[in-house]
Amino acid sequence: MSDTVFGKIIRREIPADIVYEDDLCIAIKDINPQAPTHILVIPKKPIPRLNEAEEEDKSLLGHLLLTVKKVAATANLTNGYRVVINNGQEGGQTVEHLHIHILGGRQMKWPPG
Ligand code: 5GP
Repeated sequence: MSDTVFGKIIRREIPADIVYEDDLCIAIKDINPQAPTHILVIPKKPIPRLNEAEEEDKSLLGHLLLTVKKVAATANLTNGYRVVINNGQEGGQTVEHLHIHILGGRQMKWPPG
C-alpha cells in the first residue's frame, strides 16, 4: 500500500470524511474543497498517477469512472459536475496516488486554470 496521505486514509491511520467505499476504491470529501461539492475517488491499489496505470488496470479504471457516476448521484449533482485527474507536476498533481476529483455545486468555467 502506498505511503501517501491517501494510503493512510485507506488504512484508517488518519481520519477522512468517507462518502463511499467498496473492495476496489474509496471516496472522500476533499480537505480543501474547490467547489461546494468536492469529492475524491481513490483506488485502493496505489497507482502513483494515471501515466503508470497498465493494461491490467483497465477494469479498475472503468470501475473508478462508474463510481464517480454513483457518488455524484448520491451527492445530488443533478445539474452536472466536473471530473478531473491531475497527472504529474505540470498537471498539478500533489498527491502521488491516483485519484479522480468530482467538483460540483457551482457553474464550472472553461478553460480551467
Ligand atoms: P491533486 O492536487 O494531487 O490532484 O489533489 C490532491 C487533493 O487531495 C487536493 O485537492 C487536496 O486538497 C486533497 N488532500 C490532500 N491531503 C488531504 C487529506 O489529508 N485529506 C483529504 N480529505 N484530502 C486531502
